Amino acid sequence: MRLLHPKKLNLDSLDPKSREIMEKTIAFFEGKGLKKVKHDDHERVWYADFLDFVKREQIFYALMTPAQYGDAEHVRFDSYRNNFFNEILGFYGLAYWYTWQVTMLGLGPIWNSKNEAIKKETARRLKEGAIFAFGLSEKEHGADLIASEMKVTAAGPGKYIANGRKYYIGNANKASYVSTFARELSTGDYIFFAAESDHKNYTCVQNVVNSQNYVAEYELKEYPFTDFEVLSRGRDAWDASLATIAYCKYNLGWASIGICTHAFYEAINHAANRVLFRHKVTDFPHIKQFMTDAWTRLLAMRLFSFRASDYMRSASEDDKRYLLYNPLVKMKVTMQGEEVVNLLWDVIAAKGFEKSGYFEMAARDIRGLPKLEGTAQVNMVLIMKFMDKFFFEPFSYPELPRQKHFKNDDFLFEQGSTSKGQNKIQFHDFNIAYNSTKVSNVKIFQAQIEVFKEFLSKTPPDKGQSRDLDFMLNVGELFTLVPYGQLIIESANSEKISDDILDQIFDFMVRDFSKYALQMYSRTSSTPEQMELCLKMIKKPAVNVERFTRVWEKEVLALDQSYHMNP
Ligand SMILES: Cc1cc2nc3c(=O)[nH]c(=O)nc-3n(C[C@H](O)[C@H](O)[C@H](O)COP(=O)(O)OP(=O)(O)OC[C@H]3O[C@@H](n4cnc5c(N)ncnc54)[C@H](O)[C@@H]3O)c2cc1C
Repeated sequence: MRLLHPKKLNLDSLDPKSREIMEKTIAFFEGKGLKKVKHDDHERVWYADFLDFVKREQIFYALMTPAQYGDAEHVRFDSYRNNFFNEILGFYGLAYWYTWQVTMLGLGPIWNSKNEAIKKETARRLKEGAIFAFGLSEKEHGADLIASEMKVTAAGPGKYIANGRKYYIGNANKASYVSTFARELSTGDYIFFAAESDHKNYTCVQNVVNSQNYVAEYELKEYPFTDFEVLSRGRDAWDASLATIAYCKYNLGWASIGICTHAFYEAINHAANRVLFRHKVTDFPHIKQFMTDAWTRLLAMRLFSFRASDYMRSASEDDKRYLLYNPLVKMKVTMQGEEVVNLLWDVIAAKGFEKSGYFEMAARDIRGLPKLEGTAQVNMVLIMKFMDKFFFEPFSYPELPRQKHFKNDDFLFEQGSTSKGQNKIQFHDFNIAYNSTKVSNVKIFQAQIEVFKEFLSKTPPDKGQSRDLDFMLNVGELFTLVPYGQLIIESANSEKISDDILDQIFDFMVRDFSKYALQMYSRTSSTPEQMELCLKMIKKPAVNVERFTRVWEKEVLALDQSYHMNP
């Protein structure tokens, strides 16, 4: 397993129908061609052609309907195959991914609901090609859901009226149902209900962004609905919103991976065939380093995310480790995506601005992903709660094999509360993965982890530092590296990634650890004892020119001219 290659697909792990969906989706985009994809992006053309294709092939129905509401075996909510679909859409254009993503978000509160009648109706609409939307955000409140102002009042038995506005809501111009989060005026309780965008009391006020996507502001004015459209109330409504985000945020990492992969092919094709000062650009030592770093970072993003899907798919009441790994896919993987595109852009420079290439879209879109569905910082705050248990109270779980089977991921719709009892969640010992390999840079990285553990036990953040989010985000960056590296190794072991590649991946991991340790050292409030340990965390990766050259030549440069999108 390396990177997605649309013309040399390896989808052996999927069932025939799922393979067909992926192949047809690729054929749709290759048939559309790069020129038309770019034209539609520049002219901000609503992607009706893509939605027609999705409708014709019943793709959203097949991929996003839980098995019990579908009418065929291939209709199921299977996160493993959804990884591929996410990646393919990111590869061809984030706009196409976005309409899929916000449909999944919109469906979340419905599938999470106990309202069987609306679930059946939703499956019927999905089969007919409908898209959906998730109406959570409001203009003034951002991450502060508690402040939501959309109001619902009772209007007789089983009848309600809604009033208010929502902002930044994807697909809300065309969505069949817009899952809308509000408060009941009489009790102050939360409520989720399904609004229909073609109702006369629903106004799509504007597209807030200037792009192919429709990210709407909508208004409900005396909007009537009944018990049929009520999805959940009170604590259940609150939990449904967080549970939906808990698995949908995972898609953002895959969109990043898709974007970076396409950008990578364009970059290597360009750089390896450009001659400057009588040298190929790829002969410059810094270019070799940038491209190798970009490729290893990208492969690591993919390895990590595949492994994270195993934990999400196997989650249960007794095993909620995915609540650490999913935010990492959202936060760490998308931020790594920015780093990959930065590296590639430094290589191809002016070429990255050209209107005819995919890269121009990648450079713009890659930056959005860390900011959506909770900013990277909000996700960091979420995962910091796991740090103590992760380092100091490991739990013995049975070894988890890869989860590629063709099954419905039932637990995603039965997660209950994802915000209560987090401090009780335990993790398996990260040393199991780190001890499973002897490659030099993993050993250096392990030594860095040991010093970080010493830092946490001997000189933990004091009261002032704990209240200082700027300081704690730095602690979080160091913590994040540990499960990130752990799942990369777990995935590399099962995918038979060579020691050369793993060593080269941990070359950048060691450098990243050192970078964050130096930042911590330099913080205003770091104490002399903390500073001493920070210096001990700073290490140099193992130098091995032969290994670097092998990876560069056999893995990275070898991709030159291997993929061009159809013009
Ligand atoms: C293109 C686009 C599409 C979108 N699609 C949808 C959609 O379909 N449905 C929907 O409901 N929403 C959607 N959104 C909204 C999106 O989810 C929010 O923008 C995002 O959650 C961040 O909110 P905000 O931008 O208002 O930032 P704010 O919440 O205003 O945050 C401001 C700053 O404060 C920090 N901050 C806030 N709270 C905390 C905290 N507790 N701890 C630490 N730091 C904190 C943030 O990190 C950030 O730096 C979309 C937004 C865009 C731009």
